[in-house]
Amino acid sequence: MTSSALMNNYGTRKLTLCKGEGSWVWDDLGKRYLDALSGIAVCGLGHAHSAVTEAISTQAASIIHCSNLYNIQTQERLAEKLRAISGMEKLFFSNSGAEANEAAIKLARLFGSGKNISAPTIIVMENSFHGRTLATLSATGSKSYQTGFGPLLEGFIRAPYNNIDAINAIAKNNKNIVAILVEPIQGEGGVIVPDADYLPQIRQICDEHDWLMIVDEIQAGNGRTGSYFNYQQYNLLPDIVTTAKGLANGVPIGACLAGKKAADLMHPGSHGSTFGGNPLACAAALATVETIINEELCSRAKEQGNYIKEQLQHKLLNCSKLIDIRGQGLMIGVQLDFPCKDLVDSAAEQGLLINVTAGSVIRLLPPLNITNEQTELLVNILTDVIEQG
Ligand SMILES: *Cc1c(COP(=O)(O)O)cnc(C)c1O
Repeated sequence: MTSSALMNNYGTRKLTLCKGEGSWVWDDLGKRYLDALSGIAVCGLGHAHSAVTEAISTQAASIIHCSNLYNIQTQERLAEKLRAISGMEKLFFSNSGAEANEAAIKLARLFGSGKNISAPTIIVMENSFHGRTLATLSATGSKSYQTGFGPLLEGFIRAPYNNIDAINAIAKNNKNIVAILVEPIQGEGGVIVPDADYLPQIRQICDEHDWLMIVDEIQAGNGRTGSYFNYQQYNLLPDIVTTAKGLANGVPIGACLAGKKAADLMHPGSHGSTFGGNPLACAAALATVETIINEELCSRAKEQGNYIKEQLQHKLLNCSKLIDIRGQGLMIGVQLDFPCKDLVDSAAEQGLLINVTAGSVIRLLPPLNITNEQTELLVNILTDVIEQG
């Protein structure tokens, strides 16, 4: 049971997970579960991956932390690796996704201030999720997360997701816009995949108006959707990319990656973090990124994701509760026609960990290296759970 010494912001937590191996986890009673959530898109390599364990142990035995007052070799190697993968120019490391977005928002404001825009404003989307700090909460498009935390930060204007006309309408009437911040697939919002021309059109609008295109890949990045970053499926380069969750397979780290237009906005003293990019987190991230690339887990995520979607479509063909199965790679949403958060418990009873978001969307985010047998099992248990739910 959850200790009364903890704040109640997570509500009652029923399971106690003590051990993991690959896509399996075990609770305190020794019961085994197939993990189709990976700590919410964090453990892309599965649990207790040897490359990450080794990197962490070796680094811990050498130096865990030193301040950003000193050069940190693993941080430099990680930055160079991610620069090569992403096509961005320069990076800042944080400890979480929200902090990566904070850095992006600060960059956008610096960019605006450089253009003498006194009230720089960022276009953000309805139904979006960008984090829980005050700036990222203000950017987030969900009243339920914001209630009680006012006054929120100024400097955001909202457009419906997947709606280019709305962005053009804002552009007409507002001289203070400096950037568009967008998730390439809305995660918390219900695994919403935009039209194929949405991100390319945002790129074009940002070019026309000299705005920064900021893509929040905190959930969609790190191999999850079939390419290292999701925007890479659209043949475009954003000006800023943020990521976190799956970057170090469970060790807290976030990154804000900036392209040419934003790479040189920060100066000594403009921004910082005590822990951000420390040797331990960067060693874990390096091992994770290298494993994702070397084991070709991006394409594997794509194949497994397609297989899961096909199988679920097939098995749930006659299920009247099913509204939609969507997603890219191993970021999958199964929308039902009723509020289905209770299915989390029924799935756990049958040995499967899933998540429900946006009320009626089952969200699947299994490890990128989930085996074929485990994928079969996932589909079979989930079909059962949905049919009985
Ligand atoms: C999880 C998430 C965040 C916030 O990340 P934290 O590490 O929880 O601060 C921001 N944006 C998106 C798209 C996310 O999925």
